[in-house]
Amino acid sequence: MKTSITENVKRLLEELPEHVLLVAAAKSRTADEIDEAIEAGIRLIGENYVQEALAVIQAVKNKAEWHFIGHLQKNKVKYVVPNFDMIESVDSVPLAREIDKRCNKLGKRMPVLVEINSGREPQKFGFLPEEAENGIREIATLENIKILGLMTMGPRTGDPEAARPYFVETRRLFDKIGKLDIPNVEMRYLSMGMTNSYRIAVQEGANIVRIGTLIFGRRGKPI
Ligand SMILES: *Cc1c(COP(=O)(O)O)cnc(C)c1O
Repeated sequence: MKTSITENVKRLLEELPEHVLLVAAAKSRTADEIDEAIEAGIRLIGENYVQEALAVIQAVKNKAEWHFIGHLQKNKVKYVVPNFDMIESVDSVPLAREIDKRCNKLGKRMPVLVEINSGREPQKFGFLPEEAENGIREIATLENIKILGLMTMGPRTGDPEAARPYFVETRRLFDKIGKLDIPNVEMRYLSMGMTNSYRIAVQEGANIVRIGTLIFGRRGKPI
């Protein structure tokens, strides 16, 4: 059966518990595809690539909120800060400092999630679980940033069940940091789970899921 973006979005919104926010991960999608997702009820769009995002944001800007979800290079922060509503992928203290600096210039306070490298993969970005508390304490001192939670990818494997231990560990960290009562830190959002793993992520406490393929079809292969 052929499915459409509209049907995919409606099915997901029906399936997800009410407390879970759905971010449509829109890398490499056109403004028309994103527009269709918004018409179907998507309120949050996730983008990984700055250049690509800026073009699309021009076209559909005010109809949704924009979350930056990819690795952000410091020299691109100046484009992201004015155009995005949340940065989910703060993966280092120097990046946070640059965001703070750019926000200061605009008089903006940026909600962020701190990215955890829960799989401890050397090629991936993010704080190791054991480094997260110190990193968060440092970022929390920046006045133009508000830490609102954690994000993790987890290792990509074919088997969704294999992601569970990484989600469990990130959830534990989320609870632990929440109890520390660090000023300027609120553990409100836990962003984890993608097309193949979102059900497990929700079982393990995610309240933001980032889904691309299940909404838009396989990349490079329009549905
Ligand atoms: C692409 C991407 C997703 C969505 O992946 P799908 O498997 O297509 O659902 C989620 N999060 C991030 C950070 C991504 O880059």
